Amino acid sequence: MLIVMKEAANSEQVDNVLSFFRKREIETRLIHSDDRVIIEFGNDESKIDRKQLLVFPGVDQVIHLKEPYKLVNKKAVEDDSVIEIDNIRIGGEEPVIIAGPCSVESERQIIETARIVREQGAHILRGGVFKPRTSPYSFQGLREKGLQFLYKAKQETGLPIVTEVVDTEDVPYIEEHVDILQIGSRNMQNYELLKAVGLANKPVLLKRSMSARLSEFLLSAEYIMSKGNEEVILCERGIRTFADHSRNTLDLSIVPAIKETTNLPIIVDPSHATGRSDMIEPMSMAALAAGAHGLMIEVHPNPQKSVSDANQALNPQQFSSLMHKVQHYIEWQKAYANTTPAY
Ligand code: PEP
Ligand code: MN
Repeated sequence: MLIVMKEAANSEQVDNVLSFFRKREIETRLIHSDDRVIIEFGNDESKIDRKQLLVFPGVDQVIHLKEPYKLVNKKAVEDDSVIEIDNIRIGGEEPVIIAGPCSVESERQIIETARIVREQGAHILRGGVFKPRTSPYSFQGLREKGLQFLYKAKQETGLPIVTEVVDTEDVPYIEEHVDILQIGSRNMQNYELLKAVGLANKPVLLKRSMSARLSEFLLSAEYIMSKGNEEVILCERGIRTFADHSRNTLDLSIVPAIKETTNLPIIVDPSHATGRSDMIEPMSMAALAAGAHGLMIEVHPNPQKSVSDANQALNPQQFSSLMHKVQHYIEWQKAYANTTPAY
């Protein structure tokens, strides 16, 4: 249930409601909205009579949410969540482009890639250093050394960086060095890891697992937010289906579904979704048309030499072509937004 306080409610009135729950040993969480305080209490609804709460001074509404996710529910907070990193706004009007190699392979490779993607207008640099690979015999990432190289690329180019975290113990160390913590598809339901990044002070990019339903995806975001970290970015990266013409099936219909259900930003990763460099450009444009707040694209200076996901990496020319199209799309969209149909 959600208790929506009046805009004019003062802190004493909020405290009064909170102490009502404290006395009954019921846990509450505060949801931050731009103009008012919202209090959520999830587990003990049966013990509370809605009418009891409505008489508290400062209480505007008491809403019963039928969905199990509360903090990420658009019915709780309508305003879109916009995550700001330096002057980049994820979830704002313009799409944000995250680009870089699947894995950090060397200092030279990551710095070269960072320069290439920055020159083409990418906003954020990606690069895996702890790689969750299907086979234990595949390249597992350069780990701490890779993180140092990624950090160096940030210092050289000024691009904020994102990397995947796979272990709760690594969170504090990685958090210190990166701008966004990534939770990979395979760990979307690793609840201890979700709680650990929920305690971190950096935004979290949460990738949808390859078999997650919308509600499961949102409940994973809820895990992070229930620990206090409200800066969650969702990422669709393809799901498993019977189709075998692409690595996964890009489920773009989740973009409008997410925008209707939650106020969190949603970006799309067409690289892992298709596994094919020739499909990245068309599916990127489709993702933007579907309303995605950004894209995550794998780029390598020389894809044939990539130690992981070589088939899906764009080379610099392909990335440049994609960025030209993205730029045209943004300009068209701005112009289109200001026109009204003639009919
Ligand atoms: C990645 O982005 O590096 C990655 C491993 O993707 P996913 O978790 O979506 O497979
Ligand atoms: Mn990859």
